[in-house]
Amino acid sequence: MSNYKYEYKQTSNSSSRAFYGFDSKPDGITIHHWGSDGQKHKNVVGWLRGAAGGTDNDGSSAHLVVSAGLCTRLEKDSRATWHAGNGEGNGRTIGIECRPEMSDGDWRTLVEVCADLEEEHGSLKYFLHQDWKATACPGRYADKLDDLVKDVNAEHARRKAAASKPKPAPKPKPAPKPKPAPSAAPKVWPAAPIKVTGDKTKEWHNAWVDLLERLEHDDEDLGKNFQKWLNGFKDPRTGLPYYDFNKYLHDGVMGPASVRALQRFLFDRRDGDGKRFYNGVADGDRGALTVKAEKKYLNHQIQFLGKK
Ligand SMILES: [Zn+2]
Repeated sequence: MSNYKYEYKQTSNSSSRAFYGFDSKPDGITIHHWGSDGQKHKNVVGWLRGAAGGTDNDGSSAHLVVSAGLCTRLEKDSRATWHAGNGEGNGRTIGIECRPEMSDGDWRTLVEVCADLEEEHGSLKYFLHQDWKATACPGRYADKLDDLVKDVNAEHARRKAAASKPKPAPKPKPAPKPKPAPSAAPKVWPAAPIKVTGDKTKEWHNAWVDLLERLEHDDEDLGKNFQKWLNGFKDPRTGLPYYDFNKYLHDGVMGPASVRALQRFLFDRRDGDGKRFYNGVADGDRGALTVKAEKKYLNHQIQFLGKK
């Protein structure tokens, strides 16, 4: 269960893993701290984004910046960021910048992020920055690597137990039926198909709000509606809901778990030509490819819902 907020802010400072002689699948995590106490998460993010963050830093970056309750992704794991000061470290591992104060909350979020990464990539090796070069980094985390591995494994065990807990039979829910074209047409469904681009547009957002509203998911929080909607369909891989409330919170946060559920749902559904709406990997990153797929799916749904 992920209890942290997840955001994506692309860095300008990255390269392919192939540049360092490694393939695109990382096999480890390198733990860093961001240096001195008192610095703000968002300022660290800004700096590590380089030009994209409006700074002149063109030499360092990381994949993730983590502090209590917040994880910012700066680059996809399939690419290398510049965190280790060492080609192999950059080539093989995912760099995580942690808050140096190392509060209980910072630690807890780090453990969850690592567990999520292992769910994505399989078991990973853990390194300290100082395993790659002589440095004081990662400070207070330096003698905590064994504890981290232990806590991540405990988190996996906890999730597994939660997922296999017998639950009361779910109330049979009638399949969401398209409503008849309402006489007073709802306000926001776009009159013409949404232009299929990777940009997160207002049209795209409003179309989701409208579609889910028509399917009677009308919580004020779009994220919560998504999670409830994706909870209503079974993932054929597991026989469990795409977004499983026994495993994940109904908290409305469109974090990696929610986005992965959406990606799997769109992967399993096909358009009029028999093509999958989403043909990428379920990486939990709501990037351009996923947004494009969402738009195709939304356009496809118009026919069932009746145009205005
Ligand atoms: Zn470091």
